[in-house]
Amino acid sequence: MTTDILLLGPPGAGKGTQARRLQDAYGFVQLSTGDMLRAAVKAGTEAGKAAKSVMEAGGLVSDDIVIAIVDERLDDEDTKNGVIFDGFPRTAAQAAALDEMLETKGRKLAQVVLLDVIDEDMVARISGRYTCGNCGEGYHDTSKQPKTADVCDHCGESQMTRRADDNAETVKARLVEYHNGTAPLIQYYEEKDILVKIDAMAPIDDVTTALSNLLGTTAEA
Ligand code: ADP
Ligand code: AMP
Repeated sequence: MTTDILLLGPPGAGKGTQARRLQDAYGFVQLSTGDMLRAAVKAGTEAGKAAKSVMEAGGLVSDDIVIAIVDERLDDEDTKNGVIFDGFPRTAAQAAALDEMLETKGRKLAQVVLLDVIDEDMVARISGRYTCGNCGEGYHDTSKQPKTADVCDHCGESQMTRRADDNAETVKARLVEYHNGTAPLIQYYEEKDILVKIDAMAPIDDVTTALSNLLGTTAEA
């Protein structure tokens, strides 16, 4: 049976940063619905056209669209060693659909990790976020700068980009969506006894160490 991991937490908690680091270490594949939706917007697919304005406003894309793209992705061969869900599920309906999907596909959620942060600090984290447009490595104006300004440590390219929705106003809307739609999932997974909290206000490397310790144990179990 394939076992999967889920990173839960508000926008800016570090889900993408940590998922990228962990995918190599454990053979998991990062499954970011935000990345998949941005790719759909760029490609101009039907799902992308429906998602574009909602994403720009910091709202939630409809459950049907998001569930369909995850369902399809989980049939890809490269996910057979397990995925790290990043940004999905975000609503109770998505969580229920995920349970059903995993059961049908012979997969299981081994662990849900809540990246525990102080919400008010997330506006600064997201406002300072930028990403290498070539390889996707994430950076931050103060907490994670490349060794040479504007040159990616990972691939050496100079193609840094900032997301259109990473502005203070949209971040606030995204935090409200998190509290209304997503935070109730903490209790949902607590009741299933698979939720663990990690202090994600700690420096990035310390969060990675805590996750590695946790997932190393999970992998051995
Ligand atoms: P999420 O995927 O949860 O929205 P990201 O992983 O993109 O969040 O992180 C948001 C921003 O905060 C990025 O610029 C990242 O470099 C930075 N960041 C991530 N984790 C930490 C941390 N533990 N301490 C300080 N900054 C962090
Ligand atoms: P993220 O990259 O996770 O910050 O997501 C960026 C945006 O994509 C969000 O603000 C939503 O508009 C949309 N999105 C990503 N994942 C989901 C999801 N699981 N459900 C609904 N909307 C999503």
